[in-house]
Amino acid sequence: MSTTPTTDDAAETEPESTLATARKQLERAATNTDVDPAIVERLKHPTRVQQVSVPLERDDGTVEVFTGYRAQHDDVRGPYKGGLRYHPEVTAAECTGLSMWMTWKCAVMDLPFGGGKGGIAVDPKSLTDDERERLTRRFAEEIRDVVGPTKDVPAPDMGTDAQTMAWFMDAYSMQQGETIPGVVTGKPPVIGGSYGREAAPGRSTAIAAREAVDYYGRDLAETTVAVQGFGSVGANAARLLDDWGTTVVAVSDVNGAIYAPDGLDTHAVPTHEEEPEAVLSHEAPQTLSNDAVLELDVDVLIPAAVGNVITASNADAVAADVVVEGANGPTTFAADEILEGNGVAVIPDILANAGGVTVSYFEWLQDINRRTWSLERVNEELEEQMLSAWSDVRAVVDERDLPWRDAAYVVALSRIAEAKGARGLWP
Ligand code: GLU
Repeated sequence: MSTTPTTDDAAETEPESTLATARKQLERAATNTDVDPAIVERLKHPTRVQQVSVPLERDDGTVEVFTGYRAQHDDVRGPYKGGLRYHPEVTAAECTGLSMWMTWKCAVMDLPFGGGKGGIAVDPKSLTDDERERLTRRFAEEIRDVVGPTKDVPAPDMGTDAQTMAWFMDAYSMQQGETIPGVVTGKPPVIGGSYGREAAPGRSTAIAAREAVDYYGRDLAETTVAVQGFGSVGANAARLLDDWGTTVVAVSDVNGAIYAPDGLDTHAVPTHEEEPEAVLSHEAPQTLSNDAVLELDVDVLIPAAVGNVITASNADAVAADVVVEGANGPTTFAADEILEGNGVAVIPDILANAGGVTVSYFEWLQDINRRTWSLERVNEELEEQMLSAWSDVRAVVDERDLPWRDAAYVVALSRIAEAKGARGLWP
């Protein structure tokens, strides 16, 4: 089977699912490495995917049953690690694809974790705070056997936040009979969360953009940036890049984008956390559709909202020189090939937004050691870890003349394969 479908083939298979993209990326990555095919075969399959029913008593007394999942892809390098997502389109397959990306992400960053991902198929906006709390507590109970600080450590993802993690940690701890902060990361600092964790995926996305600009011999002061999504990833990335001297010309949320060719004051635009879905309320010379942001003629485009937004249908219209993936999986496999053909560099999610799980690792260390790190220390260590991963990936880009995603996969797969080789296949 061809691992590099032509654009025509790709167009036929659109829309691509997250799992399809993840599997094709792995197959393609395997052709760039001399990893034992038996190891690649093992990595195509998750260790387990837990599906649970989560009954919820609504505030009006009626009962509804939701479906929850926890996909555990691989743990050869350490406990499964990855977020919990509350979104109507969560499925077992999506969680599996996302858990594969977490395995590669942790390996690229050289963190002692494997990959997991889970969630509940629910629209969190349709729930009250009390309902979200009860749903989270019951979900924690349903997956209690498969999680734990040395087994599988969930974190926030789309539709979940620090409060969700606090409820999860409390429910788990109450049932285990002791306080166990290390069961989840992304908690509020007052119960063992790490300073800087919430801003970390946006910070690492900004660092990746900064390094890419430098790699291509440009100056930050002469760089224009467009950001799709103004939640924790997009807003933090946009504001940091703004602070570092770039001109952020457009930002968007689900309702659309604001565009200012001379640059926006990103600190004045309300983030999703500050005021949900209020980007358009900010005065700007022009408004655009959310899709149009992807086609702006900017130096750096940061898709930081949801997955599968750059597809075979619009990839040709991407006019940016560099795409930095703030979201997980914003570019389908087919779109990636089109971008590559058009000379657009794509800095992959598994490197760009890996600040989230990196600071999750710092949080886990703090929890296990019962120590608290200052924000300065967190940001310094994040910077160091990002630069080290960046330079590992850049070395493969330079030596092998590979695109950034392929190079990141080479780094990740080599580390995982080495670990699998050393441990062997049991029994
Ligand atoms: N959900 C985040 C991600 O996709 C963070 C995962 C974590 O911190 O474990 O990378």
